[in-house]
Amino acid sequence: AVDGGERGVHAFLHVNAEEALAVAAEVDAIRAAGGAEAEALHPMAGVPIAVKDLIVTVGQPTTAASKMLEGWMSPYDATVIEKVRAAKLPMLGKTNLDEFAMGSSTEHSAYGNTRNPWDLDRIPGGSGGGSAAAVAAFEAPLALGTDTGGSIRQPGAVTGTVGVKPTYGSVSRYGAIAMASSLDQIGPVTRTVLDSAILHELIGGHDERDSTSLTDPVPSLVEAAKLGATGDLTGVRVGVIKELTGEGYEAGVQARFDESLALLAEAGAEIVEVHCPNFKYALGAYYLIMPSEVSSNLAKFDGVRYGQRVLPEEGPLTIERVMGSTRAAGFGDEVKRRIILGTYALSAGYYDAYYGSAQKVRTLVQRDFAAAFEQADVLVSPTSPNVAFEFGSKSDDPLAMYLNDVATIPANLAGVPGISVPGGLSEGLPVGIQFLAPAREDARVYRAGAALE
Ligand code: GLN
Repeated sequence: AVDGGERGVHAFLHVNAEEALAVAAEVDAIRAAGGAEAEALHPMAGVPIAVKDLIVTVGQPTTAASKMLEGWMSPYDATVIEKVRAAKLPMLGKTNLDEFAMGSSTEHSAYGNTRNPWDLDRIPGGSGGGSAAAVAAFEAPLALGTDTGGSIRQPGAVTGTVGVKPTYGSVSRYGAIAMASSLDQIGPVTRTVLDSAILHELIGGHDERDSTSLTDPVPSLVEAAKLGATGDLTGVRVGVIKELTGEGYEAGVQARFDESLALLAEAGAEIVEVHCPNFKYALGAYYLIMPSEVSSNLAKFDGVRYGQRVLPEEGPLTIERVMGSTRAAGFGDEVKRRIILGTYALSAGYYDAYYGSAQKVRTLVQRDFAAAFEQADVLVSPTSPNVAFEFGSKSDDPLAMYLNDVATIPANLAGVPGISVPGGLSEGLPVGIQFLAPAREDARVYRAGAALE
């Protein structure tokens, strides 16, 4: 049943029909009874949601699409799940991803590919391809994803859905299985910008269980989305990031992007050009910082504390040998590649040359953003240099796969918010347009995104 579910889309790893129907029935009963309890219902009560299988849930398995966690059940809910349950959104189930969220195509899942509903021979993006495909295929109106280097925005782009990476620290990471903790952020995947705003306001806010959680109140995102939907961007300065256009971007993507700029100008926005010269080093820095954090975060999968334990076929059962055989069998190639890269980058003697320099680049990327935001209120670029590609076309070439993330990674390095909204089709396949704003100014990406929608 690996590739077969849901008319071939296979967005879900686990379907939670019974519990979802029970919650829906409960909401129906409350609405039918009327009165104060019905009045107090969240506006999205009863609206089903799909959850990326990197976010832990009580009563449903969480695998991170890895053999390592096969059969593991979390004893606690992620903070975002507590909020989703409290608002009575029926949880449909858990969606497919690249193993431990490492990839851009969902081809690195240990449980088979998710297919793009626009063309079943093509990838739905990654790592959150399952959440985006579920929304694009009308299986779920809402979904949750995680974005460490683009895993909400890029699947959004290639499936014609809306994906948001909130400001780092504005949505609790408690209960999101950590990939790279300084970059990870949970966010919404939906069909419309307004839906994302409503969901984002629900899941956002301070959480003392996440040490990097901001203490700010949740900004008024719904209001910003409604303002944008009037189609008036008078007085808004939109900065085109010169380094994220042109060479390397497919002609069809560039064409839809240029049309989007014309639409923004028509809406009254002032289009300016900004330069972020250090963005050309961002991909390289990300692919050092991220694996370094991965090597540390994934050390806990030791065959003792979580999920799988695979004993060595022969010889003594020492802790090192059990750990080795468990990790050899439990992790896929891409996960192993990143653990090895990260361990190397952090090793004594190489630390300054690799991890240390990458952290310096991270600071330079943050400075580029700061300078650009002096000239513009929001920045804009294509979300992904290409439309959805065919299965297998990049899976043997890690570098080609990594290049897919060139436009999404700077936001994670700087902790700033981003949205990807549909920007039309190129040869029948969706193109995504990305808006970025300064940290804590998530409202701006909702306004701009809703205006283009
Ligand atoms: N494609 C990126 C990577 O492979 C992004 C991953 C993510 O955001 N989880 O690292």
